[in-house]
Amino acid sequence: MRVHDEQSSPTHTYNLRPGGSGRDHERNRDVDSESDSESDSAATATSGSGPGSGSVSGSASNADTDSNHPTTARTMQTSNTESSCPDSLIVVSNRQPYRHTYDEGAGTDEENGTETTGTSDSGSGSDSDSGSQSRPQNGADVGPNSNTNPISVDEPTGGLTAGIDPVLQEANGTWIAWGDGDADFDVTNQRDCVRVPPDDEAYTLRRIDLSEEAVDAYYRGFSNRVLWPLCHGFAELVEERSDDLEWYRTVNERFAAAVADHASDDAVVWLQDYHFALAPRMIRQTIPDSASIAQFWHIPWPSPATFDYCPAHEEILEGLLGNDLLGFHVERYANAFLDCVRRFLPDATVDHEQGTIQYNGQTTRVVATPMGVDAASYDQQARETDAEQLLSLFDRYDIPRNSAIGLGVDRLDYTKGIPERLTALEGFFAENPRWHGDFTFIQKATPSRTEIPAYARHGDIVRSEVDRINRRFGTDDWQPIVYTEDYVEHEDLCALYRHADVMIVSPLIDGMNLVAQEYVAASVETDGTLLLSDRAGAHERLSSHALTIDPTDVSGFATAIGDALSMTPQDRTRRMDALRSSVFGGDIDDWMATQFALLRRVHGDGAAGIESRERTQPM
Ligand code: ADP
Repeated sequence: MRVHDEQSSPTHTYNLRPGGSGRDHERNRDVDSESDSESDSAATATSGSGPGSGSVSGSASNADTDSNHPTTARTMQTSNTESSCPDSLIVVSNRQPYRHTYDEGAGTDEENGTETTGTSDSGSGSDSDSGSQSRPQNGADVGPNSNTNPISVDEPTGGLTAGIDPVLQEANGTWIAWGDGDADFDVTNQRDCVRVPPDDEAYTLRRIDLSEEAVDAYYRGFSNRVLWPLCHGFAELVEERSDDLEWYRTVNERFAAAVADHASDDAVVWLQDYHFALAPRMIRQTIPDSASIAQFWHIPWPSPATFDYCPAHEEILEGLLGNDLLGFHVERYANAFLDCVRRFLPDATVDHEQGTIQYNGQTTRVVATPMGVDAASYDQQARETDAEQLLSLFDRYDIPRNSAIGLGVDRLDYTKGIPERLTALEGFFAENPRWHGDFTFIQKATPSRTEIPAYARHGDIVRSEVDRINRRFGTDDWQPIVYTEDYVEHEDLCALYRHADVMIVSPLIDGMNLVAQEYVAASVETDGTLLLSDRAGAHERLSSHALTIDPTDVSGFATAIGDALSMTPQDRTRRMDALRSSVFGGDIDDWMATQFALLRRVHGDGAAGIESRERTQPM
């Protein structure tokens, strides 16, 4: 396994001409309401090959091969037509699929403190780009900006963004997202639109230009200081700042207005995640009645007792009830949402059995459909790694070559249970001196939202705990914990997954946790063991063949690490085979097909088109 010292990305560079068809970044951004056409698009890259173009397979009815191990909600039968992308699809997300930036030396992503060519703040791709890859933008007419540096385009390489992109390409749809690249508005037309992918223009990317003040309040404020901690049950970490809610409203209005610009009579609007809790109702008031609105909430939903702490909680619920369809990863979050509506909106009629809510003359269908990963690509990437890569990584981090490897891969987020994991590792090493020198735990931590005090404090705690444990057990030749915040290339991540003997995924709560599924998909030798928190959404799918841990039960957690290391090869393979069946049987294509089948049903027939509540199967 080898971690590249140099990042491998673009091979060509093109210089951009100043001037051309771009737009003034500062001027009034009013747009007319005509729909976009090819001729509206600003000139963009025309060379090179585009991102993966595999289309949704339409396999929504995939059965799990392990009968003890049901996967996603599949109570409905879907035809290929039903599960293909609806016409006139408008996707709305915080993060954009393509981002134009001027090449001005190696940059860092201001949002997550990592290099711009990769990593993620959210596996869903809805919070920040969950894996993207920079590639030069062909020399083309671009904006009036005096910057003559070449422009690179970040392209989606993983997660939800990469899943939706080929589908929108096929459907010639529209994607509306925050334009956070410094060259973004120098390649858009007067209506802030650009056709993407740059070299194979297939759909319209409508960018929303947000001021630094708006981003700070809407994204780093209400989204990540209020909704994120609340939805994860950390009410004590909620930080209410005076203007954040108002900015959140304003930004939701901006996105809603953009949707109205693009929505035709038969539009299907599909919003992603917690940045847009208010937008659905705003959109409902402005687009034709015949158009449909759906949203997927990628993070947990809290109990009514916790949601009670939410400022404007009624407004948030009313906003979300502008949706015809509202999706969560797992049943318990969907149920918690229904409980909150029942408690805080007494005028709503909630049918728990059907998963429907009637409010203000509208029906919202609530479903649970767990998201999967691109299992085939993790499998393939893992198979392409070689022993050299592993040895190089061992040398780079001074890991003894015969050491067994444990692995953690997380954003540095207080929900991920990293301090609990470190305490369990400490307990394990204290009780098992025979493993000193023979087991090394690699913790890859990606700094995230570092300007928020709760995150900064959390990072300090994690780093100091690693130091303390390494001082306690480390020797001249061996450190029990190799902690790195270095950027890890996708192929190196896959190599780490493939070779890790034990993967520890120990969130205190997690909407899904894609890392757990990625590890399984990349475990091509089927000789690794997954330790999985019972509080991750992924646990619903993977519990029976992972080793379940309660992240707060330090002694049970430490024992589970020992159990994983001493498991027989046969048991490991048996478990991993079953896990792989689950992960491959409910991958990202499968999830997308399920979403589109649901969207089509809601769109075609209203909420009544889904006959009974889609449920995750019992384990
Ligand atoms: P969250 O969305 O809360 O960050 P998930 O586990 O669901 O948690 O998703 C994390 C995503 O980020 C995964 O797809 C994972 O592969 C990716 N990721 C994490 N660290 C890195 C890294 N260093 N380089 C590339 N991708 C990373």
